[in-house]
Amino acid sequence: MGKPTGFKEFPRQAVPYVNPLKRLKTWDEFLVEVPEDHLREQGARCMDCGVPFCQSATGCPIDNLIPEWNDLVYRGRWREALDRLHKTNNFPEFTGRTCPAPCEGACVLAIIEPAVTIKNIENAIVDRGFAEGWIKPEPPGERTDKKVAVIGSGPAGLACAQQLNRAGHTVTVYERDDRIGGLLMYGIPNMKLDKAVVDRRVGIMREEGIQFVTNAHVGVNTDVRELHDENDALVLACGATRPRDLPIPGRELNGIHFAMEFLLKNTKSLLDSKHEDGDYIDAKDKKVIVIGGGDTGTDCIGTSMRHGCASLVNFELLPQPPDERAPDNPWPEWPVIFRVDYGHQEVAAKFGKDPREYRVLSKRFLDDGQGNVAGIETVRVEWTKDDADKWQMTEVPGSEQTFEADLVLLAMGFLGPEDTLAERLGLERDPRSNFQAEYGRYATNVDGVFAAGDCRRGQSLVVWGIGEGRGAARAVDIYLMGHSDLPAPD
Ligand SMILES: Cc1cc2nc3c(=O)[nH]c(=O)nc-3n(C[C@H](O)[C@H](O)[C@H](O)COP(=O)(O)OP(=O)(O)OC[C@H]3O[C@@H](n4cnc5c(N)ncnc54)[C@H](O)[C@@H]3O)c2cc1C
Ligand code: SF4
Repeated sequence: MGKPTGFKEFPRQAVPYVNPLKRLKTWDEFLVEVPEDHLREQGARCMDCGVPFCQSATGCPIDNLIPEWNDLVYRGRWREALDRLHKTNNFPEFTGRTCPAPCEGACVLAIIEPAVTIKNIENAIVDRGFAEGWIKPEPPGERTDKKVAVIGSGPAGLACAQQLNRAGHTVTVYERDDRIGGLLMYGIPNMKLDKAVVDRRVGIMREEGIQFVTNAHVGVNTDVRELHDENDALVLACGATRPRDLPIPGRELNGIHFAMEFLLKNTKSLLDSKHEDGDYIDAKDKKVIVIGGGDTGTDCIGTSMRHGCASLVNFELLPQPPDERAPDNPWPEWPVIFRVDYGHQEVAAKFGKDPREYRVLSKRFLDDGQGNVAGIETVRVEWTKDDADKWQMTEVPGSEQTFEADLVLLAMGFLGPEDTLAERLGLERDPRSNFQAEYGRYATNVDGVFAAGDCRRGQSLVVWGIGEGRGAARAVDIYLMGHSDLPAPD
């Protein structure tokens, strides 16, 4: 329970980021290292609240045993804290760095005080585990005669592969990119999640006996039916990779890119050659407009800023959220409030102003006369509820405005998985075009084929990917063996 009076004694102190102007000069991770005492004090703030909403309900999707490891950290029992953490989370070093921490929104202390810094403590436990050499490969004691192919190596595919391997099955992960990790590798940029951290975990999984095949685009250069025939089960963990487009006049102009093209090429060039190959979309000296918010938008901002863009504007279609929870958004729901993420901080530090422009609808891309984008014509919108209580958007007369741009990045979300695998296998889709597979069972309509992560639930979070991967592994184990000792998620 931490220290009984801890929450009264110590204020919340999140692990700080490196100063924005300093961190803009590198691609290194931006979290500052803090002394052990800082973490123990923060762990001490966890109170004996009785019903820890942080680990259930609207809190942690994988039911991390948060109060238990907060208490162990407060007492300096790091090794036990690590063991508790690994019971529910295969990869705390990924969530500790990237999770938006719904647990903190549901923390009981957050009703009256700022929440416990749960995510920071999670990260510190696993980093300590690696530093001490406590995290080692855990190959299974015995092998079954079952073979499973996992398609996609994001958090869902990796968690599923590790769990199935622990159950003794022979697992091969097929990935179309040249590196393993999915969006952990080529979506989230290095300053938020160092790629050496991803490779370190993948290295452990290789030592546990999992096979990884890269450059294997299943359905394109690797036959999915053969994989289905050669394996006892197939798990689809191929993400929701179809980006939402903005089909307005001028969309064909040069200089307009999907966010993932920009982010993938940047990280690949960084890892291949420290950007010396020049094989990336360079924002240096460009007037950049990022259309769309969320993590993807923020990562485009942070990446453009590190290239040295001349200016940066970020369009949001929705109004600016309130500073405090609205009455219809009570605890323990996820707080929909105004947040300043790392990219916004960096723009404000360098250009003196938060980059976000709210309620902006893009109407037309402007041509510089040579086929390149030169700007965007926009109009502001108003959001009101109609008689059926549904939000309606109307354009505000006279609010037309033109923004200059020579690089536009589209970060407006994703529309579900690509069609190829669904067509080749004859998969049913849900109304949002995701692979149809009931939550908790993960089985598709095709015998022996399972789906987990963003390709099943739509674009989501790393923690949900891990949770779905774990759940699908248990479902596959039951399918193969009739029972399973793998943990059952809620
Ligand atoms: C730019 C960006 C930043 C994000 N930042 C965060 C964040 O900070 N925190 C957070 O919690 N969430 C974040 N998210 C969301 C999070 O990354 C995803 O929800 C999560 O990675 C989904 O995991 P997944 O394993 O289902 O799919 P993915 O991570 O998308 O992995 C799917 C993998 O399958 C591969 N694949 C697809 N089709 C095939 C095929 N036919 N053959 C072989 N391989 C195939 C893809 O190449 C990919 O590597 C972010 C998303 C984006 C786009
Ligand atoms: S995985 Fe996310 S929600 Fe769960 S404890 Fe960690 S930060 Fe909180």
